[in-house]
Amino acid sequence: MRKIIDFETKKEHYTAQACVVWCFDNRFTPALNEFVKNKNYQHYDLIKVAGGAKPLATPEKEIEEEYILKQIEISLKLHHSQRIVLMGHSDCGAYGGLAAFNNDEDREKQAHIEELTKAKSFLQNNLSCSVPIDLIFVDCSGIWEI
Ligand SMILES: [Zn+2]
Repeated sequence: MRKIIDFETKKEHYTAQACVVWCFDNRFTPALNEFVKNKNYQHYDLIKVAGGAKPLATPEKEIEEEYILKQIEISLKLHHSQRIVLMGHSDCGAYGGLAAFNNDEDREKQAHIEELTKAKSFLQNNLSCSVPIDLIFVDCSGIWEI
């Protein structure tokens, strides 16, 4: 094994201001960076998966839901995350893109609001502790809080 990059980080664990569930669609990574900056999060745990919060609302397989739930639980336990942020975005491939809504952005946004609300309910009913849950929708014009 050979070191390819010099890098230093602290050995101590941190307290996370949030555990963020975000879609891995790289078009929306700049939005994540803006969001984190806007919220002034010093530390956050990022769970970056296709569809963002989709596995918590309408998982294709039950194991997806369990896996994300477990990841959030670990974030809460290990880093005492103070809140959870659930994200959905426009033209998400996990939902068939904007085309799945006949390119109707309002219909798509409404569907994402319902999905995120469903994901929030799932967490409220299944998490081992109570923590604030924020719902975020991102489109090509900005970041919306629900
Ligand atoms: Zn997506």
